[in-house]
Amino acid sequence: MTMNQEYNDKTSFNRICPECGVGNPEDADSCIVCDKDLSETLLFFEDDFYDIELTSELLIEYRKNFYRTRRTGKDKKYFIAEIKDIKFGHPIKRFSFKYKGKKEVYALKEDNYNSLKELFKKIGIIYELEVE
Ligand SMILES: [Zn+2]
Repeated sequence: MTMNQEYNDKTSFNRICPECGVGNPEDADSCIVCDKDLSETLLFFEDDFYDIELTSELLIEYRKNFYRTRRTGKDKKYFIAEIKDIKFGHPIKRFSFKYKGKKEVYALKEDNYNSLKELFKKIGIIYELEVE
């Protein structure tokens, strides 16, 4: 085995930076490209119409353009503490909640839907969990 192979076996760049989309080593504290603090990110995934990031304080939606090829630069930030009425739809994988009196709905891919639901359970913020 060459040194290079060994390096590749041990280091995976699977930790996608929510800010710029670059893959970082699993143990990176901050992004190698844009320097975003990655230790704050509890969950990040890419879906069809948006990318979603969850930190301990915020749920952030990074909106994608119509062709889903890049981000529009329009982000929506929700303070977790102000998110009410969280619902995970079934059988349609939809995640919805109320924020400042307005209902927000996100259709998610199954994997993303499951990771989000699991994380919400784990950190104890779906005490209001309902299936609709
Ligand atoms: Zn970055």
